[in-house]
Amino acid sequence: MTAALSVLSPTPAVLEGLPLAIDRDEVLRFQGYKKDVDVPSPQVLAIFEEALALGRSLIAPRVVYRAVTVTGGAADRIDAGGERLHIPQIGRLWGRIDAVGAGICTVGEAIEARVRVLFDAREFPLAVMLDSVGSAAAESLAEYANDLLCQAGIVEGLKVTNRISPGYAGWDVAEQDRLFRLCPGRPIGVSLNEACFMTPGKSISWLVGVGPDARVDHYFTQCRRCWMKACAYRRAPAERTVRRN
Ligand code: SF4
Repeated sequence: MTAALSVLSPTPAVLEGLPLAIDRDEVLRFQGYKKDVDVPSPQVLAIFEEALALGRSLIAPRVVYRAVTVTGGAADRIDAGGERLHIPQIGRLWGRIDAVGAGICTVGEAIEARVRVLFDAREFPLAVMLDSVGSAAAESLAEYANDLLCQAGIVEGLKVTNRISPGYAGWDVAEQDRLFRLCPGRPIGVSLNEACFMTPGKSISWLVGVGPDARVDHYFTQCRRCWMKACAYRRAPAERTVRRN
């Protein structure tokens, strides 16, 4: 399934059953812990382990991805697939790109449903930790998809930038519907309401730039989480991958 993924896929490509790893540090970050500064207590770690086991049994990672040709642009703008996207400094950040890839990923709705049940049962610490597990899993999945695309791009002789999402880095969240028109969430069961909220909530939408001259030299996080051992283009040593071994 992943071997068939093309970074220039003109139709929505769906990936399912990905062996996703959930990062403990990411979960604790959602709990407000600062890495290497805050040390969680044994009680917190016990709740974390319980929530992690529960979360692993509930997540159903799915990704949908589609690429469209870039037809125009400026320092803060990309025109592609009949849509106009206003993203601050994107010309400088991504350099020359020929296409953009729009993606949506979700870990499904089962985690949120269980969080609600736990809240109703007044099991607050586990409910809040499970919610963080779901958020961290969605982040890991977006990273996983970004790494998969980078790996596929190398095979195709194309560079793939790091992802950017509506609502971050100055990109107005109101443009979320434009991203959904480029890549529909329907094939993986993700919908968007008028306030630009996605359902299920543990979903992330993102955009990457694609092209032989795309700028990737200043992105390091991606490589730190990538599992491709013999990559000649690696920009930083692997630390902890987002794929289960
Ligand atoms: S190691 Fe870095 S450059 Fe190589 S495929 Fe992974 S993310 Fe891309």
